[in-house]
Amino acid sequence: MFLHIDIDSFFVSAERSRDAALRGVPVAVGGRSNLEIFSTRRTHIRLMDENHGAFVAPVFYSDRRKTFREHFIDRIDGREKIRGIVTTSSYEARARGVRTGMPLAQALRLCPELIVLPGDMLFYHQLSHALAGFLAREIPAVEQFSIDEFFGDLQGWIPSGEAEGFARELQRRIFREFHLPVSIGIARSKWTAKLATEYAKPYGVLKVEDVEAFIREIPIDKFPGIGRGYRRRLEERGVRTLGELIPMRRLFESWGVPGRQLYRRILGIDGEGIARRPSRQSVGISRTFDPIVEPEELRRRIMVMARHVAYITQKLGANPTRYSLRIRYLQNLRAKGAVRVDRIFSETLFKAELSRLFDRIHRPGEGAIKLALSVSDFTHLHPRTLSLLDLETDRRARAISEGMQRIRERFGLDAIRTGNELAAVNN
Ligand SMILES: [Mg+2]
Repeated sequence: MFLHIDIDSFFVSAERSRDAALRGVPVAVGGRSNLEIFSTRRTHIRLMDENHGAFVAPVFYSDRRKTFREHFIDRIDGREKIRGIVTTSSYEARARGVRTGMPLAQALRLCPELIVLPGDMLFYHQLSHALAGFLAREIPAVEQFSIDEFFGDLQGWIPSGEAEGFARELQRRIFREFHLPVSIGIARSKWTAKLATEYAKPYGVLKVEDVEAFIREIPIDKFPGIGRGYRRRLEERGVRTLGELIPMRRLFESWGVPGRQLYRRILGIDGEGIARRPSRQSVGISRTFDPIVEPEELRRRIMVMARHVAYITQKLGANPTRYSLRIRYLQNLRAKGAVRVDRIFSETLFKAELSRLFDRIHRPGEGAIKLALSVSDFTHLHPRTLSLLDLETDRRARAISEGMQRIRERFGLDAIRTGNELAAVNN
């Protein structure tokens, strides 16, 4: 299953996340064409060094925040005039007729108590980046599609029957952590999931089981990818809804590769995966539990967690060269260790190294309450020469690991466990 996650009225929600006074009242974030980027003064331009994804321009204008008056009111010949348009509005404002793209002066006539804020793109990008990081820790494969939209691939991670429960929990946690309301669409294809999100708003979760039934009454312009050109061509044929397109495969195919692709996306049969960006620096998970003293039970838990980390790592197509393990005990005692392993990553190798690491750092007799494992220093980020000595062994281990990966992608992450995960001790 694919998830599509979209933040509800993002810029407004971002402002509300840092100012509770804006919650529950009509709010709009406004914008006006920003000519300052052409200015020769460069004093306020700051280069962002964080990776925000390919869709973000690397340079932001991070001026001090302007007031409404400074930003939106022009004084011409002694008369004041409100400039600018609505970029985003809250649902309370929309209920009063305020719409995206509407001149601010008109919006304020419709809704005089509307609170209008100048946009703060830097803050929105930081929030978006923080959410992207959060999602990357929750879902093995995530694609950031725009500043406030993400695709997640749950295949092999969450069984399709549990996708909705997973999405609702994710929605709750995002609200708890970031105070951002998101809507989530779930479907077997990413574009159907994106369409579903439209109908989940605000703050809803919608799972589409039967694509043809779902799209039957949906107007064609709701579909991402049906732009003005396609819309005109379809309207000329009297088509109004996506459902009417189902028997029109031939027509779409006559429009060549893009037409064929669009048809497959509409029907949810495109088979497209999510786009991967090699932007992450590490993969890790942690678990907290009641105190455990038995070393073999701790080792077993490490092996189970290692399987998860290995799965995510391979899903990302990454080759980490640093493995680390941290253990927290009662009385705030801690142990940690890391190894550099310049070899081809595989689950077998990872588990063997962690087992040695555990023997080295574990404090016998202490009650452990938390385990954290991670891998980092990916070879595509930090090119290093991999060991030639172990090349043949590693290639074999990698081939086995990839075989297990394929089975898990089809049947779930629990489909295969290795012996060292099964030596269960009570607790
Ligand atoms: Mg949005």
